[in-house]
Amino acid sequence: MKIVVVYGGKSAEHDISILTAFSIIKEIYFEYYDVQPVFITKEGTWLKGEPLTGPVAFADALKLEEAPEAHFATKEGEQSTGVMINPCSIKDEDTVVFPILHGPNGEDGTIQGMFEILDMPYVGCGVLASAAGMDKIASKQLFQQVGLPQVPYVPFIKTEWNEDPEAIYNRIEGTLLYPVFVKPANMGSSVGISKADNRDELMAAIEEALKYDRRIVVEQGIDAREIECGVLGNDDVNTSVVGEVVKEVGFYDYNEKYVNNTVTLQIPAEIPEEVSHKVREYAATAFKAIDGAGLTRCDFFLTESNEIYINEVNTMPGFTEFSMYPLLWAETGINYKNLVEELIQLALKRYNEKH
Ligand code: ADP
Ligand code: MG
Ligand code: MG
Repeated sequence: MKIVVVYGGKSAEHDISILTAFSIIKEIYFEYYDVQPVFITKEGTWLKGEPLTGPVAFADALKLEEAPEAHFATKEGEQSTGVMINPCSIKDEDTVVFPILHGPNGEDGTIQGMFEILDMPYVGCGVLASAAGMDKIASKQLFQQVGLPQVPYVPFIKTEWNEDPEAIYNRIEGTLLYPVFVKPANMGSSVGISKADNRDELMAAIEEALKYDRRIVVEQGIDAREIECGVLGNDDVNTSVVGEVVKEVGFYDYNEKYVNNTVTLQIPAEIPEEVSHKVREYAATAFKAIDGAGLTRCDFFLTESNEIYINEVNTMPGFTEFSMYPLLWAETGINYKNLVEELIQLALKRYNEKH
């Protein structure tokens, strides 16, 4: 069997995707599978690399980590090993796709739709769950439907803002108290998100968010701990122990997360047993609310008085060896290698059940 690992991509999370892809490739059981790396450049070109077969090839993949894109550029002066391909040409017998793409076009159901049309098994959430999980407005509406607690929010679209900003200010200020968080509905890794403490900042934050999406959500800002729970399964799910993202700064933005590394992961989180129990229950409920498959990481806010609010679900969470999702499962009893294998098996199970 062959695993087609698709990574890179046009989104702002291109580099994180590369790191994740190499962590995963190293841990795929080479005894069972060949790996076909498929790299999507920042411009959106699909490149097919040399297939990786057996322990030597996997050891080579390990070395690639230092210059991940090297696999597709020049290998010590040699010509490029990457061949430009038509995305649809990845269809093959006995193939499972492992899409390791974050953000728009990767985690939002679009590429999942392509795999559906190609009729290929693929790891992770399907079209609906990916789209619903990515869109912060749609997911909030689904969470509301199943009674999950969340902070108050005001959604709107660009056209409404352009036509009558005053009406939008009134809706926001009539529902929320400063500080508020302004977010593009479809993004990740804090891209386009800002905190606003007053109307001037609110205006700037909205203009910033509109650079990334025509759908915007403004949320009540809260002072809370950030705790996360992993979900693994298809129709029947398991939840992981709960972890905490311990922040040295109030707002955990892209730079803090990936550049300055000012966050540490506390696993398991130091929270009361009842809170952890509730969080795990909510994480499973959220997974079902979006019709999840394979994996999600569900993120929550926890206030000082132990009130829990769901923040979001991520359908392709960070997945390097140092990322929260695999570390949560390691603590729960599934190591990285077996987690990757379980995801491949879940993809096959889901595919076979449909056929
Ligand atoms: P992303 O999908 O980009 O991770 P999030 O909704 O998780 O977007 O927001 C990114 C970060 O911004 C959160 O991890 C948290 O630190 C902060 N944040 C977001 N919403 C709020 C809020 N309502 N109150 C306080 N902090 C928030
Ligand atoms: Mg997210
Ligand atoms: Mg988040």
